[in-house]
Amino acid sequence: MFYICSIAFQAIFAFLIGTIVFDVFHYFFHLLLKSKHKFLRSIGSLHTAHHRFLNSQLKIDREWVKKNFYQHLLIEYGIKISAISACFLFLSHISVWIAIIFETIIFTNATYNRGIDARHKSYSILPSYLGGFLVTKYYHALHHVYPNYFFSSYFKILDFILGSAQPINGKRIALTEMGSTDVQYTPIARKRSCK
Ligand SMILES: [Zn+2]
Ligand SMILES: [Zn+2]
Repeated sequence: MFYICSIAFQAIFAFLIGTIVFDVFHYFFHLLLKSKHKFLRSIGSLHTAHHRFLNSQLKIDREWVKKNFYQHLLIEYGIKISAISACFLFLSHISVWIAIIFETIIFTNATYNRGIDARHKSYSILPSYLGGFLVTKYYHALHHVYPNYFFSSYFKILDFILGSAQPINGKRIALTEMGSTDVQYTPIARKRSCK
């Protein structure tokens, strides 16, 4: 029993390593877009295909399916698999293989669905932000509305470190009877209000 728990824990840890390393790359892709150097901007611009594919209005643009695959899905998979593979140096090999297989299943599913997976769908309105440690599909959708926030892909560790988990602009904030705040993101309404 201890052996199975140990393998499972190490597999989750390897998956976490892959996720965090990619989240850091993701953050830098956005940072490079603001660089003064054309070459660095061109590296950052690779990631813009992903944001064109699911735009800030949270609508899927099928014209960008192919570029999203080559410039985002493939790069994300490559970075995650490389980072997870580094865990062969200090974790049990079977755990690392489990993490690699799990990551490959996620990649295969996204590829099979032409990028339109559970986290990438068209929305007209998002539910209230509930917080928590894990990234939900709605949380990731917020990154497509606010590209300079919500960088994390599965665990919000990087966003907690960077303080990029909650932007202020564009929110509708309502006070509830209990005195807590209920925040609802309405990308379309936000766009209209900007005109
Ligand atoms: Zn996305
Ligand atoms: Zn992004």
